[in-house]
Amino acid sequence: MRIVFIGPPGAGKGTQCRRLAEWLGVPHLSTGDMLRKTRGDSGLGRLVSSYIDAGQLAPDYLVLRILTRRLAEPDCAAGVIFDGFPRTVRQAELLDELLGAEGERLDLVLELDARQDELVDRLLKRAEIEHRQDDNAEAIAARLELFNTQTSPLIEHYAQRGLVKRIDGMRLPDEVFDQVRQAVLSRGPTQRSDHPSA
Ligand code: ADP
Repeated sequence: MRIVFIGPPGAGKGTQCRRLAEWLGVPHLSTGDMLRKTRGDSGLGRLVSSYIDAGQLAPDYLVLRILTRRLAEPDCAAGVIFDGFPRTVRQAELLDELLGAEGERLDLVLELDARQDELVDRLLKRAEIEHRQDDNAEAIAARLELFNTQTSPLIEHYAQRGLVKRIDGMRLPDEVFDQVRQAVLSRGPTQRSDHPSA
């Protein structure tokens, strides 16, 4: 199964993606994690940092390069969870091309929904624990604004293809994951040989 997870920063997308990937036995591809790994003391590393720290999107060519390489690895053949990609309608088109070239397509888009005021609270709390450079008030505002203007139109884009299932992200993590599992099971059998149980 190829699943795209869409949700605003702070909605718990990373946690749910990890759990889903583990449950389905497929890799969890977080473009945010992949980009953070390329940071460092090289020209490219500094370039990547400058976007992430400001809460701005990294350029498509960079994200695509990292993602294409990862998707070519054998463990991605049976399915993947896309976390943080696509983030714009343009990236969604690029993903369709990328998958189409391999004769593949998306099976499901999960939309994780949460209230904006709750998101800011959660992100500021995370800032105290994880010290992520982009969990400061300014970068959080930029990321939420980007989500609202650039990423949320993706929901409509995919809804037209009947791919979207909405998940209420305001519940406890276990309850959110129950909804995720139900959404996946309702898409029909997974490609995993031993089917996960609900
Ligand atoms: P969050 O969902 O909390 O914003 P992520 O880990 O998904 O966190 O992303 C962190 C940062 O990585 C983004 O703010 C952006 O700078 C960069 N990034 C992640 N995915 C993409 C993408 N698909 N396109 C461009 N930039 C990206």
